Amino acid sequence: MKLSTLFVKTQKQDPSGEESINAKLLIRWGFVYKEMAGVYTFLPLWLRVLHKIENIIRKHINTVWTELLMTALSPEESWVRTGRLETIDVLMKTSGANEISRNKSTNEYVLNCTHEDMITPIVKSYVNSYKDLPVHAYQIQNKFRNEARAKSGILRGREFRMKDLYSFHATEEDFEQYYDHMKTVYADIFEELGIGDQTYVTLASGWDFTKRYSHEFQTVCSVGEDIIYTDKASKMAINQEVWNDETKALFPDAQWEETTASEVGNIFPLETKFTKATDFTFVDADDTKKHPIMGSYGIGPSRVMWVIVEIFNDAKWIIRPKNIAPFEYVIIAIGDRWLEEATKLYDTLVAKWLDVCIDDRNMGPWAKFADAELIGYPTQIIIGNKTLEQWMSCEVVDRATGEKELKKIADLSL
Ligand code: ATP
Ligand code: MG
Repeated sequence: MKLSTLFVKTQKQDPSGEESINAKLLIRWGFVYKEMAGVYTFLPLWLRVLHKIENIIRKHINTVWTELLMTALSPEESWVRTGRLETIDVLMKTSGANEISRNKSTNEYVLNCTHEDMITPIVKSYVNSYKDLPVHAYQIQNKFRNEARAKSGILRGREFRMKDLYSFHATEEDFEQYYDHMKTVYADIFEELGIGDQTYVTLASGWDFTKRYSHEFQTVCSVGEDIIYTDKASKMAINQEVWNDETKALFPDAQWEETTASEVGNIFPLETKFTKATDFTFVDADDTKKHPIMGSYGIGPSRVMWVIVEIFNDAKWIIRPKNIAPFEYVIIAIGDRWLEEATKLYDTLVAKWLDVCIDDRNMGPWAKFADAELIGYPTQIIIGNKTLEQWMSCEVVDRATGEKELKKIADLSL
């Protein structure tokens, strides 16, 4: 990307009406555009950050299963069938009719807030026998929830991103094994996203799906909306909603500490709630008909982005983890004089598929340096003035350590 083509500009002042630091920073620096409370457009640089986070999630999930994309819109019947039309308070409903439409039909639709109710009939149509199981399917998609109070930027959005995975099993053992496996996959994902140390596997309510607990992945952070009790040694936690003698007894040696946290992921045993509701059976090895056992596994990538910024940002450096910076390298050309040389290097590195952008905007070097520091490109390649003139060199600066190195441009192009 040539930054001169980026239409987004940084603003001089903090936006009004935002209470969280991250929302203020991200709006001001042209990462997000606020449509309304809890609804934000991802501007180009921020979209790259989102894609990097989602691709890290994909990489770990794809080692095991496949991705699909379900519809965001569904017929109301899908929710009537599972009995959830009346029970989910955040469900967003919409009607197909409008004032000028010739189609005055009274079709009612739902903007999906989760997809158990959609995936179950899809899988049902392909599964007949125990030999067809297990099935696992996931997607990454926008979800809609009419949250009463959309706060802290998109920490709690009304439209937000979710990676949702669903699994269907013939036996309880197979489900258990997969569920435990997902705990380790999730731990790996949060580790790679740089929030492993702050993220706790947390016992939480199984709601009306199961008498067992569900497991949340809670990241300790001051803007988090949940209260959890953490035990540092075991990296386990208990959500306040199930904090009682029964749960405490499961960890007799724990040293509990109360803290606020944000739920970045949640895995859920669903038993046969949805397969029964949709009349989904398979023929088992002993020729009897059974309902598959189901689990669901969610992560909120847009919430994860927000949490990462909230944890690591300071006024001079917004996106700290290297692997989610919008670009790995930024080439900064100082003045028009060096633009041609800088653009040549940029073209060479792009051709090598490096994750690189060039700051070819018509502005002074200090403003470019400040932006590069703030956005947090891990490596800056600065081309200009004396260094180039004398040795055809550039200065390579490490954002994290501040170390500078003179390198021959010809060597970087190799
Ligand atoms: P919360 O308790 O925060 O309302 P939830 O338990 O209702 O979340 P799940 O249905 O478990 O959420 O959704 C899976 C994941 O999607 C959550 O762990 C979270 O990371 C993310 N998520 C849920 N609701 C929102 C939201 N309103 N905005 C952004 N991310 C969300
Ligand atoms: Mg949850």
